[in-house]
Amino acid sequence: MSEILRKQFLRHVAQTSPGPQLIEVARAEGVFFYTPEGKPYYDLVSGVSVNNVGHGNRAVVEAVQRQTADYMHIMVYGEMVERPQVEFARLLATTLPEPLDTVYFLNSGAEAVEGALKLAKRYTHRTEMISMRRAYHGSTHGAMSMMGEPEGEEWKNAFRPLLPDTKAINFNSFDDLEQITSRTACVLCEPVQGEAGVRVPQDGYLQALRKRCDEVGALLIFDEIQVGMGRTGEMFAMQKYGVTPDIVCLAKALGGGMPLGAFVSSQNIMSTLTHDPVLGHITTFGGHPVCCAAGLAAMKFLQEEKVVEDVERKGAMFVELLKDHPAVKEIRRSGLLMAVELGESSKLYRLMDFFIEDGILSDWFLYCDTAFRISPPLIITDDEIRNCAELIKKCLDRL
Ligand code: PLP
Repeated sequence: MSEILRKQFLRHVAQTSPGPQLIEVARAEGVFFYTPEGKPYYDLVSGVSVNNVGHGNRAVVEAVQRQTADYMHIMVYGEMVERPQVEFARLLATTLPEPLDTVYFLNSGAEAVEGALKLAKRYTHRTEMISMRRAYHGSTHGAMSMMGEPEGEEWKNAFRPLLPDTKAINFNSFDDLEQITSRTACVLCEPVQGEAGVRVPQDGYLQALRKRCDEVGALLIFDEIQVGMGRTGEMFAMQKYGVTPDIVCLAKALGGGMPLGAFVSSQNIMSTLTHDPVLGHITTFGGHPVCCAAGLAAMKFLQEEKVVEDVERKGAMFVELLKDHPAVKEIRRSGLLMAVELGESSKLYRLMDFFIEDGILSDWFLYCDTAFRISPPLIITDDEIRNCAELIKKCLDRL
């Protein structure tokens, strides 16, 4: 495990100190980005599930330009009506299942998680907060406290004390649901675990989790920061798996490429943040009008162009093209979020070098460095999938 952490750390350091291994980006369009010399790269990371509508999406670019010209930051506390916020909140509320109709916009995924945890404590008057092993929810103190051990422990140990009264249970373990009790304020769960290397819920697991939370009066929080906005083949993963949480956290693709997060709940639950104290969560830039205009344009694009409807088919197409390669042990997938398992990290590191040479940007996962990521912009075409899979296979042949 520590080897993965060391490599992740080195990559982050590398980003701050230029070296020959870095790729300079000159521009990006659709599923590609280009170096100053014009070399194209297939983007199979999408900024970690951010660029669902593709790079340089015209609808988003125009919305940003329009809103920037109209106004940018005005005021945070709700005295002003800012049309992009209101319209985007309305679209989210009408698309999400009932009773998720009240949207609190913020800046990032971690902040959405912070807001959701605070809301759960405030609503239930309880303190225990449960997460899943191998979960990643962000890097602020609260979100880091919910990093599921054992993988998160190395990070957490360096920053203790973190939030008290937190613990992790095993994702997909029906037995572990017994650990959720009448002491529990909330259970925070990614409906598909992203950084664990794409772990999908077993049949009936999320339903059983929902039932247990209801039995003991704990709130169920879904972290759809990585899997929301069409990635799994439904606009929200909760729709794919048929379970509605009490609170959902959104970010990444929510802003259409701009920084935006949100936590969404029912009006009944959310209203507890409005009193004792009056401002239960405060953010200056959260719901920035330019970010909301971008997010609104991106979500309308996904709906109007029927992009999400085609995600499952495109994901299956990737699997069909890659699954029989001898180096591929397994492909774990939900929609267009895929982990292609090679079984050995040394192979994966070599593959990453071949990918870079041949014009592919992929990545491994925070808690899984034996599989590579395929999470392209959702607008990838069939021809692009075929060509990209050919390139991937050429690189796999070299292992
Ligand atoms: N939750 C999940 C599932 C994530 O994948 C991430 C980021 O990778 C976060 C939360 C944190 O989001 P942010 O980096 O915007 O704080």
